[in-house]
Amino acid sequence: MTVVLGLALGFSLSRRRELQTMRRVLSERDRARRLGTNKAQLQHPVVDLTRCLGCATCVAACPEEGVLELVHGQAMVVNGARCVGVSACERECPVGAITVTLGDLTDRDDVPVLSSELEAVGMPGLFLAGEITAHSLIKTAVDQGAAVGREVARRLASNGSSTSESPVLDLCVVGAGPAGLACSMIAQKSGLRFALLDQEQELGGTVAKYPRRKLVMSQPLDMPGYGRFKKQTYEKEELMAVWQDLARTHGLQLHGGQVLQGVERMEQGHFRVQTETHQFEAKHVCLALGRRGIARRLGVPGEDLHKVAYHLVDAHSYQGRRILVVGGGDSALEAAMALAEQPGNQVSLSYRQEGFFRCRAKNEERMKQCMAKGSVQVYFQSEVASITGDAVHLRMGNEVWALPNDDVFIMIGGVPPFETLKRSGVSFDSSQHQAVEALEEKGSGLTSALLTGLCCTLLALLFAAWHNDYYGLQDHLQPAHPKHDLLAPTKGLGLQIGIVSCVLIVFNLLYLARRSP
Ligand SMILES: Cc1cc2nc3c(=O)[nH]c(=O)nc-3n(C[C@H](O)[C@H](O)[C@H](O)COP(=O)(O)OP(=O)(O)OC[C@H]3O[C@@H](n4cnc5c(N)ncnc54)[C@H](O)[C@@H]3O)c2cc1C
Ligand code: SF4
Repeated sequence: MTVVLGLALGFSLSRRRELQTMRRVLSERDRARRLGTNKAQLQHPVVDLTRCLGCATCVAACPEEGVLELVHGQAMVVNGARCVGVSACERECPVGAITVTLGDLTDRDDVPVLSSELEAVGMPGLFLAGEITAHSLIKTAVDQGAAVGREVARRLASNGSSTSESPVLDLCVVGAGPAGLACSMIAQKSGLRFALLDQEQELGGTVAKYPRRKLVMSQPLDMPGYGRFKKQTYEKEELMAVWQDLARTHGLQLHGGQVLQGVERMEQGHFRVQTETHQFEAKHVCLALGRRGIARRLGVPGEDLHKVAYHLVDAHSYQGRRILVVGGGDSALEAAMALAEQPGNQVSLSYRQEGFFRCRAKNEERMKQCMAKGSVQVYFQSEVASITGDAVHLRMGNEVWALPNDDVFIMIGGVPPFETLKRSGVSFDSSQHQAVEALEEKGSGLTSALLTGLCCTLLALLFAAWHNDYYGLQDHLQPAHPKHDLLAPTKGLGLQIGIVSCVLIVFNLLYLARRSP
């Protein structure tokens, strides 16, 4: 009786916990719908509910928080916009119920129209590579960059490379993230005359902007000039060190501080790449610009001061400072909270809205705790009027006041480079995308599992029939039979069969434990 009551209590507690989790997830999903963060920015997982077993392997496998959750015992995409395309869910799902896809391209005007060689349709010689093609991940960026480099080298091998006297390069690569870097390494290896440009002074692209010691997940990838990255996770600093070393040893020159304005085809047939300060002429162009674009600016007096930054890499290097963070998204909140943890910092946050609407619930909760204990002072419905050497002037309604200040972080998002690309002749016309192919059936494995089970059962029955002279005997007569030493459940083969069967039963039951949320 006690055991039964104990089991009933355990079950009801576990069910209560399950329902609480589900209510939290459903309210998070409603919130994501309100904010528009339920929709994907790039790739996103699609769950085939007819196959999903509700084992939650995908939820555990995803490195990002809250993309997938279990609802009513099955996986559901809650915050599609947080998907960074790692595709761990797709790889780990035991029944192939998840596909990571770009969705219906005929519906999207933020995906460039490219040929299978990643060449802009209608602009032969102009290639795109990396995240700008709407496929995230370092591995994809490297693969695409290398593919463009190889394609350009192949075309030049058949049409002839330019001579060293010609001012026209073979290739101009814009963007020194993983895609641009891989493209440049192939160009270097193939002996092309090329230039690598970036608006920043260092290579690495988005990875260089990751927070200090961020763990980067990647499938094994082949970096031209280096070979295979075998591990699944690297610290940001490890990756950056490899790339910097690669650039040094191969004499890769980066033209830093070159903000791309546009690409134009000249009468002679080659391209002119126009940056804010220079022009480069090249037969082929690879735009590997990523999608972060240029950081959005406030446009207020004093914004050009050295103390103003648009991203935070290492909170530890700010201690004993008076800091203002501007913005209300996840990056702004995470930066403000990381800075508030450093000794001696006085951190304030200015946000135009009256509350936090565009951040994760968890960040909002943590920020409320920081506000309650006074480690971050938040000024809602405020905006920066101007910035001076030792202060920031904040405006709230008609009132403007000076806040003593040493550093300002403006984190109000970026302007994606779509307009620059359109100006350069890249089409984003969604009607030019090929209609999306139906998600492929991957097979749930159920048929093969049932067939294996059936075969095993038939084999067991055959085995029993074959030894019917022993198994058919009454229990007290079996010890006298010559097969007893082999088939008795306490020794020999009989014992081994018994152990294997028990292990299989336990393995089966473990599924129930994995299935609970
Ligand atoms: C927070 C976060 C976490 C991530 N985690 C992972 C992870 O764990 N694993 C993973 O595989 N991927 C991850 N990603 C995705 C990965 O970082 C990107 O897919 C990858 O960096 C894309 O490489 P890219 O070369 O296409 O573009 P980027 O790395 O974005 O590089 C683009 C370059 O172009 C330059 N540029 C842009 N515009 C101009 C212009 N107008 N003029 C001149 N230069 C310009 C930029 O300065 C930049 O250097 C993450 C992304 C983010 C934001
Ligand atoms: S991993 Fe499990 S929960 Fe996720 S989709 Fe596959 S079967 Fe469903």
